[in-house]
Amino acid sequence: MEIFSAGRFIKTGKELRVMNPYNGSLVNTTYLAGEKELEDAITAARSALLPMRELPSWKRYEVLMHIRNRLTEQREKFARMICAESGKPLRYALGETDRSIQTFTVAAEEAKRLPGEYLSLDWTKPGECKEGIVRYFPVGIIAGIAPFNFPLNLAVHKLAPAIAAGCPIILKPSSTTPLSTLMLAEIIHETGLPEGAVSILPMDRSTGNRLVTDPRIALLSFTGSPEVGWKMKAEAGKKKVVLELGGNAGVIVGKSADLSLALNKCLSGAFSYSGQVCIHTQRIFVQKELVYEFSYRFATMVNQIRSGDPALPETEFSSMIDEGNAIRVEQWVNEALTGGARLVCGGRRQGNWFAPTVLTGTHDDMRVCSQEVFGPVVTLEPFDSFSEAAARINNTRFGLQAGVFTNDLSEMDEAFANLEVGGVIINDVPTFRVDHMPYGGIKDSGLGREGVKYAMMDMLEPRILVKGRR
Ligand code: NAD
Repeated sequence: MEIFSAGRFIKTGKELRVMNPYNGSLVNTTYLAGEKELEDAITAARSALLPMRELPSWKRYEVLMHIRNRLTEQREKFARMICAESGKPLRYALGETDRSIQTFTVAAEEAKRLPGEYLSLDWTKPGECKEGIVRYFPVGIIAGIAPFNFPLNLAVHKLAPAIAAGCPIILKPSSTTPLSTLMLAEIIHETGLPEGAVSILPMDRSTGNRLVTDPRIALLSFTGSPEVGWKMKAEAGKKKVVLELGGNAGVIVGKSADLSLALNKCLSGAFSYSGQVCIHTQRIFVQKELVYEFSYRFATMVNQIRSGDPALPETEFSSMIDEGNAIRVEQWVNEALTGGARLVCGGRRQGNWFAPTVLTGTHDDMRVCSQEVFGPVVTLEPFDSFSEAAARINNTRFGLQAGVFTNDLSEMDEAFANLEVGGVIINDVPTFRVDHMPYGGIKDSGLGREGVKYAMMDMLEPRILVKGRR
């Protein structure tokens, strides 16, 4: 598959073989962009600045709707590619494709309501007889860097708002999973956007790092691990930086909770795509009186998860992205067990497959609690009071989202007021997300927000026109 640089599909001297994580077969071969291809893409993006800025809203809407419609027609094909390159079970890959369609739909709608404001300036004497018009202009060239775990939709969360905002964008997909994004390039190419408006370039990390340091890039939008993201911010110079990073999301199951609802939601929050989700449900805190029943029923459900070939529609659980990550998860689980934790279920590894695992008797300073596991492991701990559970959710360097199962209004209020996260989800897991809501973290989990409108706010900057009568 050729890569997409400045409106053209090209090959380079460096081949990239993309392998299926489940069975080790070759999915397809593509190419890594080198310094030259990246330079060409930046030069073309600069030439596209003016035509993109002048692209009328109706045209942006039509471009985005065209992509949305073509993606809808090819839904199954895209889902099968996500499944093959990432090992994500087909049912979740279809869900990711549907979300990408939704992200483009929302971006098309937002392209018609770019912000703007009339401002009277006579609030103070010097502003008398003057008025302001605030218009939002595209900020410049966007660099998007995306991770492997939602190869399509997290790239779309950068591409769609950039087109809606009128910014050229150079996107670097993960080299592990670049193919579904390159398939999308074929649809984007049909729209006739100005050359250089969109480039999709798989790159090795050292070439890709030029997107971080190059002063011609106005905004770096990074989704990936906290370690990489914060290092990028330190190297980014004067450009704007948005960081969508990881976490160790927690959920509270209070005494008034609907237990069956909580159990079902926690099961998918903890184990869909083998926990390789930034808002994976990693820590579950259950009211002491309910913990025995919760634990028993949860373990029974975990043992019934259908594991197997991700390409089969019935499969709910499959292998991790690679063996190195499965070994890391195994080490963290063993370390917790040595430190006094107990296994409720799971704990086994075979190659890059790690069993859905539930631990209890953990301490907040164990790596399975304090770090991002990014694997199929969840901790289950009892609590006495709601405030104690909230304090444990907060006792971490991360803060992406938190879930709270309760029917008690005062607990809902307490959670919203006191949980240190970017989103509080009542009666669902922290893993809940729809694509137009503001999404992002505080503390080490990130900087800024995505969710189409919120991503666009970073891609636009206000300029004021002051009109005076004298
Ligand atoms: P990663 O940080 O290893 O890589 C992310 C991307 O950055 C990849 O494309 C990678 O090639 C690129 N990259 C790494 N170093 C680079 C450099 N120096 N210069 C340029 N590019 C560089 O993350 P990953 O393993 O692909 O993804 C998993 C991580 O992503 C987890 O921590 C997860 O929580 C996080 N994540 C966050 C969100 C969110 O929205 N908050 C969503 C999904 C995943």
